[in-house]
Amino acid sequence: MSDDRTAGWRPRTRAVRAGLDRSPHGETSEALYLNSGFVYDNAEQAEARFVGDDPGFIYSRYGNPTVAMFEERLAQLDGSEACFATASGMSAVFAALLCQLQSGDHVVASRALFGSCHYILTQLLPRYGIAVDLVDGADLDQWRAAIRSGTTCVFFETPSNPTLDLIDIRAVADLAHGVGARVVVDNVFSTPILQRPMEFGADVVVYSGTKHMDGQGRVLGGAVLSSRAFIDDHLMQFLRHTGPAMSAFNAWILLKGLETMELRLAEQCRNAQTIAEMLEGHTAVERALYPGLKSFPQFELAQRQMTAGGSVITFDLRGGKKEAFGFLNGLRIVDISNNLGDAKSLITHPATTTHRAVGPEERAKVGIGDGMVRLSVGLEDPADLMEDLTAALNNI
Ligand SMILES: *Cc1c(COP(=O)(O)O)cnc(C)c1O
Repeated sequence: MSDDRTAGWRPRTRAVRAGLDRSPHGETSEALYLNSGFVYDNAEQAEARFVGDDPGFIYSRYGNPTVAMFEERLAQLDGSEACFATASGMSAVFAALLCQLQSGDHVVASRALFGSCHYILTQLLPRYGIAVDLVDGADLDQWRAAIRSGTTCVFFETPSNPTLDLIDIRAVADLAHGVGARVVVDNVFSTPILQRPMEFGADVVVYSGTKHMDGQGRVLGGAVLSSRAFIDDHLMQFLRHTGPAMSAFNAWILLKGLETMELRLAEQCRNAQTIAEMLEGHTAVERALYPGLKSFPQFELAQRQMTAGGSVITFDLRGGKKEAFGFLNGLRIVDISNNLGDAKSLITHPATTTHRAVGPEERAKVGIGDGMVRLSVGLEDPADLMEDLTAALNNI
């Protein structure tokens, strides 16, 4: 579908039109192909499809026209050769790792991880004889020490959930490539609008469509992006036969989400920047972390790697769990919820929710304290959000 006509398109045009594959009816919006299977003109055509000589669809676990439109649009936004959509962000992470690993392999990952990513790396992979070393991702010396000959794969999130640690993609990719390892980046917090890891040397990029791509709290989805060769050689068979396919309905929702993602995210980043500056100056706040703040420990790297600070702010309240709960319970507009990237502002207390299962020791290592809260800034009027947050902070 990407032909000469789309080659020169700018990102905004791609967001709205890339991948559009109209049926003979000429529908304006992308069609929703809500069907599991496909029929063939004759037995010869069925045979040719299974051999791979006929490019049509076979079964929606393998591919679906609506899902294919989403895959093409996202690949073009990400600057990747190819994309395979999945049922959720976690099935994308799982498939991106498992499709290329085998017993005896060695993986290096940053310690600051989303709870479910942490589970896959520290609980599941070792069960299959895959050794995993965790490092403090911001410290290049630790990456240098951990990546060795025999390392097959490197995995990290940047910014990480919820501490917003950044990882220098270019520097870690150079180390990994030096020993022939592949680099898998979870780019959920940034989306392809704020950061395009392939341009800094990543080999595989994974997304949760559930977050900013939908951005309106409706569906789950995920995607793995890479070279065509990686998908053909590793991912495609793994996904076809294990079955975490994206539903056509979810792909249709996410296609519409991609059309407005840049506009929504730009506004969310503007709101987040304003709110982060307010939070940093409030006496109830011990520390505010936001990649767009000059005080952010990795501000320089954020400027180099990202186009804006993102929609998530993480901050430590003075005190602990009691103060954090008091603050959350005092909010009238911002909802308590563990999702992020939504049009509605959402707040969570990672130590008792998303990062409860990683345990107190691991939380301490990555700096998730009992006073830490993670705010996903939405599209409400920033003045209302500031009033809501300030009132709740003043009342702790
Ligand atoms: C939410 C999230 C995921 C998982 O996505 P789902 O769609 O919820 O499965 C993976 N990585 C990060 C960083 C996330 O925030």
